[in-house]
Amino acid sequence: MHLIPLPALADNYIWLLHDDEGQALVVDPGVADVVEQALTARGLQLRAIMLTHHHHDHIGGVAALLARHDVPVHAPMDERIPFGTRQLRDGERIEQALPSLDLQVIHVPGHTLSHIAYVGAGILFCGDTLFSLGCGRLFEGTPAQMIASLDRLAALPGDTLVCCGHEYTEANGRFAQGIEPANADLQRRRRQVEQRRAQGEPSLPVTLASERATNPFLRTDSAAVRHWCTTQGTADDRTACFAALRRAKDNFRG
Ligand code: ZN
Ligand code: FE
Repeated sequence: MHLIPLPALADNYIWLLHDDEGQALVVDPGVADVVEQALTARGLQLRAIMLTHHHHDHIGGVAALLARHDVPVHAPMDERIPFGTRQLRDGERIEQALPSLDLQVIHVPGHTLSHIAYVGAGILFCGDTLFSLGCGRLFEGTPAQMIASLDRLAALPGDTLVCCGHEYTEANGRFAQGIEPANADLQRRRRQVEQRRAQGEPSLPVTLASERATNPFLRTDSAAVRHWCTTQGTADDRTACFAALRRAKDNFRG
């Protein structure tokens, strides 16, 4: 399998996955032209579209793609997404024939209430729930919902490749540095990201093991993040600590 992040809009990634026979699926096509160009350039046939949540930067290209490709659309149960060929609940499996792939659906409320993630073949498509060194804003869900969602994602195997919906890693890294100034893994990851971005390369995918070592939103149990939480008066309550982190990130200008 070949896993390719297609940069789109300001800072989105549309994830393209294809096999050696040219059978492809895309995740969260916010625009169509970027996908069409990639399909043509690589000689691929589109077989399926997967959506994580209803925001326009993730579904804006679906109608134009469907006008040219007769393919199923896998989507969360949400009336704000008008194209679900198949609407998915937590725990459902998608047995994709071409490219050959089994994906499991994980309901991850927080950024939006109906947000889902897809995991299979060692790959996690998590939309705007988990970002590298960060997490999505809480537009609809509560901190308790989001931390439960992130816990489920963080429990996947460490070699899982995390495929996020946005290239936010550098800014997230500046925030994370302030939370855990002595985290050597975080410093290494930031240097790696800086080099990749300077060369015009994506910071993604990243392994889940790396995120567990560096992402403050996955580390509310760590001594360093708990220490930061004590400065916010939320040390004993993991959800309150998470909420304080998320609030601090919302107000972070760095
Ligand atoms: Zn979103
Ligand atoms: Fe988004």
